[in-house]
Amino acid sequence: MGTNHVETLIIGAGQAGLSTGYHLRRLGRPFLIVDAHDEVGEVWRERWDSLRLFTPARYDSLPGMAFPAPGFSFPTKDQMADYLRAYAERFALDVQTGVRVDGVTKTSDGFLVDAGPRQYTADNVVVAMGTMQEPVLPAYAADLDPAIVQLHSSAYRNPEQLRAGRVLIVGAGNSGAEIGVELARTHEVVLAGRDTGHVPFRIGGTLSRLLLSRIVIRFVFHRLLTVATPIGRKARTARAGGAPLIRTRPQELAAAGVVRTARMTGVQDGLPLLEDGQVIQAANVVWCTGYQPGFSWLNIPILDGTEPRHVRGIVPEVPGLYFTGLHFLYAFSSGMVQGAGRDAERIAKAVAARPIPVREPAAVQG
Ligand SMILES: Cc1cc2nc3c(=O)[nH]c(=O)nc-3n(C[C@H](O)[C@H](O)[C@H](O)COP(=O)(O)OP(=O)(O)OC[C@H]3O[C@@H](n4cnc5c(N)ncnc54)[C@H](O)[C@@H]3O)c2cc1C
Repeated sequence: MGTNHVETLIIGAGQAGLSTGYHLRRLGRPFLIVDAHDEVGEVWRERWDSLRLFTPARYDSLPGMAFPAPGFSFPTKDQMADYLRAYAERFALDVQTGVRVDGVTKTSDGFLVDAGPRQYTADNVVVAMGTMQEPVLPAYAADLDPAIVQLHSSAYRNPEQLRAGRVLIVGAGNSGAEIGVELARTHEVVLAGRDTGHVPFRIGGTLSRLLLSRIVIRFVFHRLLTVATPIGRKARTARAGGAPLIRTRPQELAAAGVVRTARMTGVQDGLPLLEDGQVIQAANVVWCTGYQPGFSWLNIPILDGTEPRHVRGIVPEVPGLYFTGLHFLYAFSSGMVQGAGRDAERIAKAVAARPIPVREPAAVQG
């Protein structure tokens, strides 16, 4: 296949990439979005069957198109997938699906992007693939008895995937808590992990209309916890501790019969070993241990550990390279639907303000 040139190549057609495309279109700049999945929205469709968003529909809209559901309802993950697909169609965003980028290299006048047999050159690259591409599992997972069914939350769909018998869920964040309550209907469930706190009211209740929407989502997540405020910068560096439980609070876990325990720290005789010395006789282990971004294919030395160095998504040391959809790129809401549009608008404006480099004719092929 030949090499196609685009002014701006956006990698990822999730909420971050689509809203960047929307803003570039408004600014009259050409772009192409490529995505590894076969359909826009598939990331959401692949999440577990019973998943509903914890953010009400009024905070699940991207710029220019309201989420088509009552403002205080909680959309299903398939409704979110449908919305993203409809969004790309409505604004006729140019998306090539089934294209997995496996290399981005800086050239003298732009970027060379490899994607299997395809190759693109671009003046600008916007990496909009989120931060959850590679499931994280501890190395000792390999030492568990092979008879124990192991699943990462990214592969969990429903209770039928598990054997009869006790389930140990490792990781007590929002995914672990929600999957725990679901599994407790069919299995004995033990939830191992640190208590990361919880919102002090039930979401979906009348109080949450005011507290969750207006105060927590709109103000705290979007305006207060930003890199521009001391409390936001503190929250950003403290994030390793995990986000507070939102839908499934300790009361709901207890009512469902989920037993909470200390963190898992290793394996003893093929069985999960906890920090307090307990060994769990588990038939199943569900790893709700999170993700890492998965930027290993970036052939540009801008990673600090697993995350890129950037200022609100702009990489000063590599002009033309941008990120969006990163956790806390600007605010706590940057990794949520609500924050995607604001970050995308800023990136699109930075792209549009950048002079287009003079290209050597030989570098551009048809
Ligand atoms: C279980 C769960 C529940 C959540 N619930 C909520 C919620 O209720 N409300 C909320 O606001 N947020 C929620 N989030 C957080 C966030 O909104 C989602 O994670 C969202 O999917 C992030 O969007 P994104 O566009 O940044 O990344 P993604 O949706 O992950 O999209 C990235 C895209 O990049 C593509 N891609 C990846 N690698 C490559 C590559 N190498 N080449 C080409 N394409 C590539 C992928 O195919 C994908 O389509 C939730 C997250 C999870 C995990």
